[in-house]
Amino acid sequence: MKDVTAPILRVDDIKVWFDVKMPGSWPWTKPRKLKAVDGVSFELNPGETLGIVGESGCGKSTLARAVMQMAPVEAGNVVWLGDELVGLDTGQMRKHRKEMQMIFQDPLASLNPRMTIGQIVAEPLKTHHPNLSGAEMKDRVRDVLDTVGILPNLVNRYPHEFSGGQCQRIGIARALVVDPKLIICDEPVSALDVSIQAQVINLLMKLQEETGVALIFIAHDLSVVKHISDRVMVLYLGNVMEIAPSAGLYANPMHPYTEALISAVPIPDPKLEAAKEVMLLDQDLPSPLNPPSGCVFRTRCPIAEPRCAETKPTLAHKGDDHQVACHLR
Ligand code: SF4
Repeated sequence: MKDVTAPILRVDDIKVWFDVKMPGSWPWTKPRKLKAVDGVSFELNPGETLGIVGESGCGKSTLARAVMQMAPVEAGNVVWLGDELVGLDTGQMRKHRKEMQMIFQDPLASLNPRMTIGQIVAEPLKTHHPNLSGAEMKDRVRDVLDTVGILPNLVNRYPHEFSGGQCQRIGIARALVVDPKLIICDEPVSALDVSIQAQVINLLMKLQEETGVALIFIAHDLSVVKHISDRVMVLYLGNVMEIAPSAGLYANPMHPYTEALISAVPIPDPKLEAAKEVMLLDQDLPSPLNPPSGCVFRTRCPIAEPRCAETKPTLAHKGDDHQVACHLR
């Protein structure tokens, strides 16, 4: 673990619920609540990487957007460097946005096809540092492109002239150009080939070492976050199932859902891979419009008991920063 001081980010019992009108319902029928995030709390220390994993639809991206105040927060709070963010308007959020940047899953789609990469990377500078001269902006853009491994003499090229991995590097440059304290990486390697995934992850780790930026790294696959994360949080239907230092979580997963995710991670040794027991989850993820009562994982849990349908387990400390939400663990 890296040296840490006070957390830069505190998320307290945050809930993001959406009103959903069911197809065919009467106009006067009350909308149903889709609980995308249902009471998540965590802290993030300076220079730390928190990995967030879970299947598609478990609320990872909504949680990231709620931290950035880009999703409507029903309840709870987000405290960034001592300032409460929930309820701030766009103008009030602007000063925080330059400290909290985001990179996205589809690198090409996240870059404006009508702008050169120089213009794309300069855009946040124009918003957050309007007093910089044109020459200063150009220098900063060239520096940051160089840092992420894109030749600065390509500034006048357009996004479609680059590969997926290069586009993700440009997205990282755009986030990095304003010297943020936090970058939220929303499935940044899911759309890339495996060899390119490793390059992008290694680049993020190198940049973190050089700049001290904290990362929230979202993925649906535990093998991807293993390498980069100091701590890992496992989400399921908008609830935290387990959160622990990365090494502890992989060596000693406590929640049945984490066990299932880890058992699906391929082992590079063919003999061990052939011998390992994969814990298959045989049902689909339930709808967040109609989550199971009690423990939200109970409909797929191999060790569920009757009480799991009645009471929702709370996230309990199991020593060494390891927290688990399960009645039996
Ligand atoms: S609380 Fe019950 S259903 Fe939920 S993970 Fe634990 S054993 Fe399984």
